[in-house]
Parts: sequence; C-alpha cells; structure tokens
Amino acid sequence: MTHDLSRSGFETRAIHAGQEPDPRTGAVIVPIYQTSTYAQDGVGGTREGDYEYSRTANPTRTALEQALASLEGARHGLAFASGMAATDAVLRTVLRPGDHLVLGNDAYGGTFRLIDKVLKNWGVSYGVADLSNVDEVRAAVRPETKLIWCETPSNPLLGIADLAVLAEIAHGAGARLVVDNTFATPYLQTPLALGADIVVHSTTKYLGGHSDVVGGAVLTNEDELREQLFFLRNSAGAVPGPFDAWLTLRGLKTLAVRMDRHCDNAEQIAEMLSAHPKVAEVYYPGLTAHSGHDVAAKQMRRFGGMISFRHADGRQAALDTASRTELFILAESLGGIESLIEHPGQMTHASVAGSMLQVPADLLRLSVGIEDVRDLSEDLRAALG
Ligand SMILES: *Cc1c(COP(=O)(O)O)cnc(C)c1O
Repeated sequence: MTHDLSRSGFETRAIHAGQEPDPRTGAVIVPIYQTSTYAQDGVGGTREGDYEYSRTANPTRTALEQALASLEGARHGLAFASGMAATDAVLRTVLRPGDHLVLGNDAYGGTFRLIDKVLKNWGVSYGVADLSNVDEVRAAVRPETKLIWCETPSNPLLGIADLAVLAEIAHGAGARLVVDNTFATPYLQTPLALGADIVVHSTTKYLGGHSDVVGGAVLTNEDELREQLFFLRNSAGAVPGPFDAWLTLRGLKTLAVRMDRHCDNAEQIAEMLSAHPKVAEVYYPGLTAHSGHDVAAKQMRRFGGMISFRHADGRQAALDTASRTELFILAESLGGIESLIEHPGQMTHASVAGSMLQVPADLLRLSVGIEDVRDLSEDLRAALG
C-alpha cells in the first residue's frame, strides 16, 4: 500500500517518497537495479512499467527522481550524471542560437566555463550581473534574453538574490528563471515555490552528502520542458549509474538532520571568524552584518554550511592557512559530512581568472562539516595563527 505523502513533512518525504518497499521481495530499501536491459513480454511490449534500457530509465534512478521532485515540490525530476550534465541539459534545451542569458557575477566556475567556452560557439551570448542588485539585473536583460541563471547563496561569495523578484523580472521579459539550488538544498530553500521555473542541483554536494558520488538533477513543474529534457538526456546519455543513484538516494534520507548540524556549526564558525584579528571579512548570510541577511531570512529556513572569508594579511597568508588546517581538509567540492577548506582563486574558481567573475586572492572558502564544532574552531584558530 502506498502512503499518501502529499501532506507529509520534509523529513518523511526524504525517507519515503518514491521509496515504497520493493513489490516483489518486500525489500525496505530500494534495490540497486544493476542492469542495462529488461526482458520484454513480446516484441514491442515491455513488462510492468516502461523499462526497456537503462540509458532511458532505471528503477533505482526513478526512485531518486521521485524523491528529489517531492523534496523540491516539483512535478518532475530528472537525474543526471553530474551537476554540469544537468546544467548542460537545461542550457541546450532552453537556448537556441541568437538567444541570450543573464548570469550572476559569482556563478559556479564550471557553469561560467560551459557558457563562455562552449555555448558561445553555438551562438548563445550572455551578460553578467550582480543578482543581488535588481537595477543591474534589469539593465542586463535584453529582448533576446531567455534565461536568468541564479545561484543563491552564490559561490564563493555567498551573495543572496531575491528569488521572487528575479522571477518577476524574468517572466516580465518572457524569460525563465533557473536556480542552481546546490548550496541551499531543498531543506533550506524551495525556489519553485518562489516563482522559479527550473531548479538545478549538483547532487554531488549536500544531497549525496558524503563526498562519495558525483551526480546532478533538474526539477521543474513544466510538462513539456520535462519531455524535452528527457529527450535530450536519452539522446545524449548523461545518466547516473544505478549505484550512483542509490548512493544519492541514501544520502537524501538524512539531508534534514545533516543540514541542521551544518547550519549549527557554520553559525558558530562564522561568529568566531568575525571576531578573529586575522580575518578581514566574513561572508555568511546568517550574520546580521551580511548585506543579503534579510532576504536570506525571508526565503531560507536557515543559512547553510558554506562560509568564505578574506585573510587580513593577503594572498600568501590565505594560502598558508589553507595548508595548515588539519581537520579542514584542503580539497575542492563541498557539502559532505567532513569539513573542507579551499582557495577559490587557485582552485575551484581558477577558470574565471581574468573574467568579470574573478574572486579576491586572499579569499578562503569553507565547507563546514558535521564534526564537533569545538574541534573545527580550534583547527581554524591554530591555522590562522
Ligand atoms: C559543484 C557544483 C556544480 C557542478 O556540479 P558537478 O556535480 O561537479 O558537475 C554546479 N553548481 C554548483 C553551485 C556547484 O557547487
């Protein structure tokens, strides 16, 4: 019997949506359907459901897609092989030669690279704007603008954009608003409910949550767009394998409890850094001094686990700090249970050097994990000197 989850809370849907016990064996956990193909009852007739080949569909992936859609409050979810594959699918589905998009001035480096180095060759142009500045966004929109691509909180400067306002601007211009919701996760923010048309995720980060799998997802309420995205994914083939889908689904189950601890720890680390003499500036939307704090408080449940800060003694001191931490592992990526530190200028954001998206050289980014916050704080203080 399937329980109606439409009025269930987030934590319940994370554990049950799309994840009914296996009808054949009663397995409580969705099995890893490690198969490429499916027996058919006759030529052209598939058994139970519509599985014929795993590039097109796989039951473990379907479970993940239903769970993700439920958490984002979306009618449709599609899982991809990576966050960039999901991003690529949205861009190539919505945009045609001659179209234009508006991109945030601190967009994820890989998204910028795809737009600037790949899409440009296909005749798509873009403009860059500070998405927290409504006038700048309005000025960047052109008659041929089809998309506004937004990250909030953004990466790595934790800028906050007002999603309801951006949706209004996009729709007024006949464009769609896409939100890369990787940093916030649906536990902290649901962009579709605020007027966004498409949500994109790198499930590699908080949704998977354990730094052991790469994946992506697209969520939308539009039926036709879902068909177009499905067609492109099946044509191009950027699908996650069954085990990757299973790992992500397993991660999702604990998203709410993990996010609460990420937020608890990040709030305390941000306070500690704000008072530290070696820290020039802290970027964390949970701080009342953050310029986007009020908008973040309005559209987010809490403020997330990502913090960036500038070292008071400049670039070399920042690099030294990043190589001195012991619990904060020096590594790219984010959103796992373990704490990470990185230097965006030379690591995650090296691809935007020299562009309008360049980041400060003395900037360090933290992905605050769910370890004991006293240990994390001590580690950072020792590394800062
Ligand atoms: C990591 C990331 C991506 C890209 O996702 P992959 O899974 O690495 O392909 C896109 N957007 C944001 C905000 C990210 O952090």
